[in-house]
Amino acid sequence: MQAYLRAQKAAGQVIGFAPTMGALHEGHLSLIRQAHQQGALAVCSIFVNPTQFNEASDLEQYPKTEDKDIERLLSVGSEVVFLPNVPAIYPDGFAVGPTFEFGKLAERMEGAHRPGHFQGVAQVVHRLLEIVQPDQLFMGQKDFQQFTIIRAMLRQMGSPIELVVCPIQRAADGLALSSRNVRLTAEGRQAAPQIYQTLQWAKTALGQQNPAEISRLAMERLSQVPGFRPEYFEVVDAYTLEPIDQVEDHAEVVACTAVWVGQVRLIDNLLLKGNL
Ligand code: AMP
Repeated sequence: MQAYLRAQKAAGQVIGFAPTMGALHEGHLSLIRQAHQQGALAVCSIFVNPTQFNEASDLEQYPKTEDKDIERLLSVGSEVVFLPNVPAIYPDGFAVGPTFEFGKLAERMEGAHRPGHFQGVAQVVHRLLEIVQPDQLFMGQKDFQQFTIIRAMLRQMGSPIELVVCPIQRAADGLALSSRNVRLTAEGRQAAPQIYQTLQWAKTALGQQNPAEISRLAMERLSQVPGFRPEYFEVVDAYTLEPIDQVEDHAEVVACTAVWVGQVRLIDNLLLKGNL
């Protein structure tokens, strides 16, 4: 793969890269489409990274659909599918650096509820970037805090790689596409669009109520849905990820939430103000 990509680069081709954990859906494919739209060759990696899972059962239960994934990637014309095994990524065990200092970016929301998660994400993305050496990195807005952390990592590395954030792909009823959705029960799947509906409600409420009150009411609303157990609902600055007091003081505001729907933990977000 490296020889092939080197030759492509030498011929003037821009290399786009979308790292994934497989069980691919339209959300993932949208990253490949975006890479092509920007004129890049599209490399997609599928690697279920053990170091970013804070619960062994979540790692074990992570869906694996490799043959289908490859078919899907072929259907959108992805040029390279990179399927490393664990020793290819971690030849000397999991304790590979560098470690990054994300400060407050990694402390709240996903960082607070999934200890070590973002160090694992940064570790694997750093390693994948070392191997693939792309010009552009394509990530979904779906994992808002994740791309914020990777943006910080690229800055700390002084990397020339351009981060391209792609819009959230949703089912017709609003549920954000996720590899974990297949694990929802029929009831859970039916109720799950209420996460997006609550985010939309927060957007309409933004002009009328203060952000802390919106978060509180959104948590209350989500708690009332049978089978839901919301972990957090936060209205934050889209760059610092700090909770906000006055909407007027911030150009970009995003609401981020994580909700257990039965046994499945889903995350979603919606930009309430500004553009990315
Ligand atoms: P994952 O396989 O869940 O690690 O996701 C791989 C990449 O696909 C990440 O950059 C995600 O943000 C992105 N992604 C996942 N779901 C969606 C979605 N519904 N819409 C857009 N991007 C997504």
